[in-house]
Amino acid sequence: MPKLLKIYTNPDPLLRKRSQEIKTEIISQKKYKLLCDDMVNTMLKKDGVGLAAPQIGKNIRLIAINLKNGPICLFNPVITKKSWRQEWGEEGCLSVPLVYGKVKRHVRTLCEYFDETGTMKKLEANGLMARVLQHEIDHLDGVLFIDKAKGVHRVEPISMQI
Ligand code: ZN
Repeated sequence: MPKLLKIYTNPDPLLRKRSQEIKTEIISQKKYKLLCDDMVNTMLKKDGVGLAAPQIGKNIRLIAINLKNGPICLFNPVITKKSWRQEWGEEGCLSVPLVYGKVKRHVRTLCEYFDETGTMKKLEANGLMARVLQHEIDHLDGVLFIDKAKGVHRVEPISMQI
């Protein structure tokens, strides 16, 4: 059974470190397969569309995103092409609970990464998925969306009223 991992929240210094690349020859090791399963499980249970390894306390370049056709894990993701066009959109983050703000992101991105078997792949994304990719890769460089956001605001947790 995949585990539900603890989410590290701002201002934990771990969220501000640059994460290390994972050597491609060890990506296919069982421990990374298990970590991917735990990250995907945690992302889905917490209703996230993406999760980066620093958010669960590991400073390695690994992210999970929830694509339309299912969740995937990306090792050492790098954005190799991005559209000239950018747009503002509302973002939130599991590591910055209850805070939202608008961030300007590239509308389309091309990303190179390694999958769980250590095979190099490319992912073209646009709209929300391009936004999620840029947000998660920022995490690997110690950047949080609140660093770039405008109109940052806090929402109060919804309390049950009976
Ligand atoms: Zn985030």
